[in-house]
Amino acid sequence: MRVAVIGAGVIGITTAYELIEQGHEVTVYERSSSAAEGCSFANAGVISPGYVTPWAKPGMALHVLTHLLQKHSPVRFSRPSWAEIQWLWKWWQACDKGTFDQNRGRLLRLASYSHERMRLLTERLHLHHDRSQGYLVLLRGEREHEMIKPSLSAMQDAGLSFKMIDAAQARQIEPALNSDTPLAHAIHFPNDEVGNCRQLTLILKNIAESLGVKFHFNADIQPLNRQEPRRIRLNPSDPGESYDTVVVCAGLASAPLLSPLGIQLPLAAVHGYSISASVREPLDAPRSGVMDERYKVAISRLGQRVRVSGGAEIGGNLRQHHAPSVRTLYRVLDDWFPGAARTQDSVQVWKGSRPMLPDGPPVMGPSGIPGVWLNLGHGSSGWALSFGCARAVADQISGNPPEIDVEGLGLERLKLQS
Ligand SMILES: Cc1cc2nc3c(=O)[nH]c(=O)nc-3n(C[C@H](O)[C@H](O)[C@H](O)COP(=O)(O)OP(=O)(O)OC[C@H]3O[C@@H](n4cnc5c(N)ncnc54)[C@H](O)[C@@H]3O)c2cc1C
Repeated sequence: MRVAVIGAGVIGITTAYELIEQGHEVTVYERSSSAAEGCSFANAGVISPGYVTPWAKPGMALHVLTHLLQKHSPVRFSRPSWAEIQWLWKWWQACDKGTFDQNRGRLLRLASYSHERMRLLTERLHLHHDRSQGYLVLLRGEREHEMIKPSLSAMQDAGLSFKMIDAAQARQIEPALNSDTPLAHAIHFPNDEVGNCRQLTLILKNIAESLGVKFHFNADIQPLNRQEPRRIRLNPSDPGESYDTVVVCAGLASAPLLSPLGIQLPLAAVHGYSISASVREPLDAPRSGVMDERYKVAISRLGQRVRVSGGAEIGGNLRQHHAPSVRTLYRVLDDWFPGAARTQDSVQVWKGSRPMLPDGPPVMGPSGIPGVWLNLGHGSSGWALSFGCARAVADQISGNPPEIDVEGLGLERLKLQS
């Protein structure tokens, strides 16, 4: 089949790879000049299936409100638009226990499968990228410990491997952790990892290209047309090119692409920040990934760099940086790993937009329009979910049963809730 993939973020590239592996003729269209220039550019890089949970969860609305009163709040509203307020309403509706439990189960299943698939391909294709093994969640006080308990029992039920440890044990795993910062407990996930999403996406893009995938960069695709939904056009007067199948992997911009087909996706941008700096002194730097549960800030070791990432901002735009949110990242880094990174010079400060659906899981599979497929809305966990989603979508397009249960991961989930 001739397949067009729209978007060359981590989702589009993994999808293109899986499709060419299954014998299709694949062309990728990307409006930037390179792959992974959008949300896949400088994320935290965390792959922790147990932590891939919906942000819509019981008690979350109150939790967000209390956070808003704090100085270093991980959550922020920046004059949300009417569409964003409607999204927040849908998010709040999805916070009930029944919906949360269902969506958490779906995400856990998908994230575990995705991690397996990523490991397999990393080994098989020799995907050498900056990665480190293990993930440590730091609980500063009893408050964080109490809040995390329900998630721990769910992770235990799901058979995930983790261990609750004390501060001394945490410092054995991450010897550079600053002993002046109070640490009540930590949770260690030995099988989880952090990795460089952009680097791996670029490596996989090159492999896909060598297998025959064609790439068109600086190609801003027009919204799909109701009469000819599988015709790809670069501008309104372009006669375009027709395909047997189109897969929309355009992250946040998937909504306007699909809207003329009558598919109204409740996608919102939840902005976040990262700072990346060179390691100054390896002995002072993290060995792998840690997460400060109080501030929801992840600190990741990516080769010779340290990346600090966090923040959830609704409203505003990508160009405007909120200085206090960035300062929180420096502060948390300094709390745990003082002197680890060269934060005085050439720090890369990045703001990205998570393509979020209100209830958590992405949408992947058929769109309801023949030949138009979806792989989008991966929110805060697109890197962790990418390999699994790509394989499951490619399997379905090829007419093979996916290796995992895709119940609740298709568009019908959103229709049922609207
Ligand atoms: C601060 C932050 C930290 C994060 N940390 C993590 C983490 O630790 N672990 C994790 O799993 N996830 C994390 N994420 C989320 C993850 O980065 C995203 O879920 C993922 O990158 C989404 O990938 P994507 O390919 O769907 O989107 P993108 O990377 O944005 O790719 C979509 C592409 O489509 C292109 N496009 C859009 N419209 C068109 C068009 N009309 N024509 C052509 N091309 C088009 C865009 O240019 C873009 O390149 C984080 C996100 C942020 C912001």
